[in-house]
Amino acid sequence: MQLVNVPKPKFNEGLRSFLFRLKQHTGYRHGWLMSRLGLRKLDERDRSITMLNINRYSLVQLSKDTGEEVEMLLDLTFTATHPDLLKDYVISKISPKRIFNTKLKICPFCTKEDQYVRKHWELLLVTTCPTHQCLLIDNCPNCKSEISQENLEQCRHCKTNFIDNSGIELGAHLDEVHLSKLLIEKAYLIESDHLLLGHLNFVELHKLFFMLLLESDNNLTLQSKYAVINEFTIEVIHPIMIRIMNLFSEWPFRFHDFLKHYKSKRKSSRQEGVDKDFGSFYSVLYSSFEENQFDFLRNEFENYITQHWTGGHVSRFTRISKQSSKYISAAKAFRNYGINGINICRLIDQGLIRGKFIEKNSSKIILIEETSLISYVNKLSGTLPSYQAAEYLGISEYTLLDLLEHKCITAFRGPLVDGYSHWHYEKEIIDGMLIGIDQKIVPLDQEIDERVLKFRTIVQNSKYPCKTGEFVKLILEGKIRPCDKTDGIGFTTYLFREKDISNYFSVEMNKSKSILSINEVSHILKLKREEINKLIRAGLLPGACKGKGKRSVISRDDLESFMGKYISLSEITRGYQSNVRFLLMNFVRHGGRHLTTILAGLPGN
Ligand SMILES: [Zn+2]
Ligand SMILES: [Zn+2]
Repeated sequence: MQLVNVPKPKFNEGLRSFLFRLKQHTGYRHGWLMSRLGLRKLDERDRSITMLNINRYSLVQLSKDTGEEVEMLLDLTFTATHPDLLKDYVISKISPKRIFNTKLKICPFCTKEDQYVRKHWELLLVTTCPTHQCLLIDNCPNCKSEISQENLEQCRHCKTNFIDNSGIELGAHLDEVHLSKLLIEKAYLIESDHLLLGHLNFVELHKLFFMLLLESDNNLTLQSKYAVINEFTIEVIHPIMIRIMNLFSEWPFRFHDFLKHYKSKRKSSRQEGVDKDFGSFYSVLYSSFEENQFDFLRNEFENYITQHWTGGHVSRFTRISKQSSKYISAAKAFRNYGINGINICRLIDQGLIRGKFIEKNSSKIILIEETSLISYVNKLSGTLPSYQAAEYLGISEYTLLDLLEHKCITAFRGPLVDGYSHWHYEKEIIDGMLIGIDQKIVPLDQEIDERVLKFRTIVQNSKYPCKTGEFVKLILEGKIRPCDKTDGIGFTTYLFREKDISNYFSVEMNKSKSILSINEVSHILKLKREEINKLIRAGLLPGACKGKGKRSVISRDDLESFMGKYISLSEITRGYQSNVRFLLMNFVRHGGRHLTTILAGLPGN
């Protein structure tokens, strides 16, 4: 029987909406129309028939009644585009019918343009209208009555016009609009340009969002969630949608935040570790999201667990233990690198490797950053044990400790480093010290015949109160400079001017005296005694005569202020390795009168 006054299905209209308009236009009762589909009378509270088991055969009668093609009618449902939708749970016993609303919801702006219910408004997770960027409404903003199909523009109780009512929320959150847009695109099989989730299909998106919905809300217990989902209103669900979509913006930082603050709902007996931190999320991720489409999610989860998580050992994640992790356990460190737990703790404390200690009640977890351990072990294999380092420098092992004491070198490991019973030194550190000494060399002037001393002669001679460690330290500080390097090993190759050495030590010994004789001053300034007297007479160096016939004495303070004011040419030439005569000519030309006075004491002038 062909009905009269049959309306045409509209763009994106749902079957429920079409049947309602059919009833309005033809005057046939709702129950009678339902029976044409082989269905009982549809209650207002029932979910949309748009998703029920409607197929081509059940639409044949309606097609005859309305004169519409079966395929055209099928388009009013999700069956044609998503034939798999009803085949399985969406996720964890969530029936597919739960992805649809129990209540009618609308975009008041869309319905003002044309009064019919769009198919995608029947989707529970679609909470906004991407066209009008507003929240959908599922009740009267004024009196909270449910919206009726009879009139989509105003409340049937209080007659409030939905658009005119200021309670309509415009400018919905962008994340939420993106989520609705994505679901709508997938509902109509439109290509999505969403970078991260655009490749998922309609069913996969629902699976993902429902999982996150259940996992992200601590108030949803496993027992209550089915009932709660049934009662979801826009008001309740839209903040959750914002939260969920937020996880996928600025990927993966927000997702990491989510994992960081995630608290498993599963009551775990464990005090720490995977189960406590990620129990339900972890298991659902690996049991229900195994498809390649969800690689991005699992990969990022593993990335977080292996690179950022510090709650326990990754090896406990049986499904991802084969992944290389940033942290390893003390047991693995011992197994793979032969360093025991006590030493590992010392190394971490000393900052030689990176790691973390996590104390939970009675148990203590050590997380060791494997890359730092590897570089430590690599360095260790290249280090010299004490006897080799000593041989390399041509000194005894005991003297090596003297160098350590004076901070001329550092040890890589040893009793005071990591508690290890033997000392090990890095060759680079030792070479670095030798290079430091090389750089201090002031070569001998070939024209001047100077007496030189060997390194060993100096440190073994009681005349020079200085052992190897202290002497090397003086060289590295630039207080004593070698003058040459010969063939040989380590320290034994260095030569020093005898004059420099004896000067340095006599000056050092004189430092404690407050009154100095002319002789001593002459020694310190490296000038002849007559020159010192000249300086005193010229008033440049304050000297005092203690009674008639006694020799002049100079106070240390006066001498130091003199030395602060003037510099001797020998010091300049030592520092700049310049030609003495050339310097002299320059200074005279520039009026360096006092310098020439001092210079008069130098040999060869
Ligand atoms: Zn709209
Ligand atoms: Zn109302």
